[in-house]
Amino acid sequence: MSSTLTYTPIEEIPKIRDDLRTTFNTGVTRSLEWRKRQLYQVARLAQNEVEAICDAMARDFAKPRFEVIMAELAAVVQRALTSAESLEEWIKPEHPDVPDFQKSWKPTIYKAPKGTVLIISPWNYPVILTLQPLIGAISAGCCAILKPSEAVPHFSKLLAELLPKYLDTSAYRVINGAVPETTKILELQWDHIFYTGNGRVARIVASAAAKHLTPCSLELGGKSPVVVDATYDMELAAKRILWGKCNNAGQICVSPDYILVPRHKQDELIKGFEKAYKAFFPEGALDDANYGSIVNDFHFQRLSALLDRSRGEKVGGVFGGRRDPARRRFEPAIVRGVDENDSLLEEEIFGPILPFIAVDSLDEAIDFINARPHSLVLYAFTEDPAVKERLINETQSGGIAFNDTFQHLAVGELPFSGVGESGYGYQFLRYSFEAFTHMRSSVDIPRSEERNLSLRYPPYKTEAYQM
Ligand code: NAD
Repeated sequence: MSSTLTYTPIEEIPKIRDDLRTTFNTGVTRSLEWRKRQLYQVARLAQNEVEAICDAMARDFAKPRFEVIMAELAAVVQRALTSAESLEEWIKPEHPDVPDFQKSWKPTIYKAPKGTVLIISPWNYPVILTLQPLIGAISAGCCAILKPSEAVPHFSKLLAELLPKYLDTSAYRVINGAVPETTKILELQWDHIFYTGNGRVARIVASAAAKHLTPCSLELGGKSPVVVDATYDMELAAKRILWGKCNNAGQICVSPDYILVPRHKQDELIKGFEKAYKAFFPEGALDDANYGSIVNDFHFQRLSALLDRSRGEKVGGVFGGRRDPARRRFEPAIVRGVDENDSLLEEEIFGPILPFIAVDSLDEAIDFINARPHSLVLYAFTEDPAVKERLINETQSGGIAFNDTFQHLAVGELPFSGVGESGYGYQFLRYSFEAFTHMRSSVDIPRSEERNLSLRYPPYKTEAYQM
C-alpha cells in the first residue's frame, strides 16, 4: 500500500455498492434538478480546487500546472457546465418517425439511466479521465463508483477527500485501491463499467463484466501513427508533432507513437524537430518545469529498455536523450532508421520516444498501418485532398486528425472512441450521457386500434396476409 493513499477495506466494498443501489432505487438521481446540481458541483470542484489538484499532480509526476489546467480542469469545467445546460434537451423522450398506421401507437424512446455504474480510470490524465465519465453518469441519472489509479496516490487520495465536499455521497463514492480492491469491485454486478487504461487489464475487466452480462466502455490506447506527406511544411509538422509528444512526457493515449516520413524528407523533418525542441526547451527538457516526469520506476525502466534495445539510430545534437532515473526524468528521444522488427514497434510507447520509419510511397505507409492493430487515432500532415481521402477510406482507427496532434480532443461534440484493439464505446458530452443511458423503447396501443389489429388473432385467415 502507498504511504500516502489509504485503500478502501475490501470487506466494505460490497456495502458501498449496495448503498448506492439503494439510492438509485429511490429515484432521487433521476430528477433534472438533482442532475444539474451535481453537474454544477463537479464544475465547482474543478474550479475551486485548482491549487490542490495541481499540487497533487506535481507531487505524483511533476505534471506542469499549465497542462493540468489546460488539458484537464478547464475541459472538466466546460463539459460539466455544457452538460448541465444541455441536459433538458438530452433527456427528452424521442418520438421516431414511423409509418402512418403506427402513429397512434405512440412509439417513444425514453432515456433511462442504466443504474449503478463503475468508472475505473488510469493515472496519466487522472482528473479528466475520472470526472468526464462521472459527468456522463450524473447526466444519465446513474449512481457511480469512481476507482482512480493507485499509480497517482496524491491525486487519488485528494479525490477521495474532495468528492464528499462537493457531491452527494449517497450516490457518488470513491473506492481507492490496487489489484485486490479492483478485483473485489469487479466481482460485483454493475449496470455499466467504464474502463480507461491498457488492453491487458481491459480484458480482465471485460471478462469480469461478461459474468454479469454488464455492458462496458473500454477506452484504451495503441500505437497512433503519424503520416507526413512530402508536400507538407516540415517545420510546422515537426512543431505540432513535438508539442503532442512532449505533453505529459508522451504519456497520453493519443500520443504520436511513430512517424511514417517520405525517405527524402526525413532530414528536413528532423531539422524541424531540432528547431522546435530548442524553442520549447532552450536548455533541454531534463530540468525544464514545462516538461513532466515519467510516472514511476516501472515505466521509466520499461521506456529505457525499449530505447536501449532499439537498433535505430538515436538522433543526437540538440536531442540529448538524457535521462535521470532518480527523478524519473526522460528527455524526448528521436530514433531514425527504425525497421518493423524494432523494439520501438513492439508495444505502445507511452513515453517521449519517437521512432521514424522512412517510406517511399503512400501505399507503403498505408500497408504499414494496416499490418498493425487499429490505433486510437491516425494523424496525417497533408493538404492534399486525395491523400486525405485515401487515408480515410483505406485505413481504420478510432479517430483521424489532419495537420495537428490532439486538437480533436478539444471538440466535445465529436464522439471519442477506439476501434478494435484501441477499445469501444463513445464519450464526450452527449456521447458520455448516452454511454450510461438505456434507450427504453415504448409503445402504447390505444383501445381504438383493436379494429386494425383484429386480423392477428387465431384462427388465422391466411388469405388476409398475402404479401
Ligand atoms: P493504470 O495502471 O492506472 O491502470 C488503469 C486502472 O486499471 C487503474 O485504476 C488500476 O487500478 C486498474 N487495474 C490495474 N491492474 C488491474 C487488474 N489486474 N485488475 C483490475 N484493475 C486493474 O493505467 P494504465 O493502464 O497504465 O494506463 C495507460 C493506458 O491507458 C495506456 O494504454 C493508454 O493508451 C490508455 N489510455 C486510454 C485513454 C482513452 O481515453 N482511450 C486515456 C488514457 C489512457
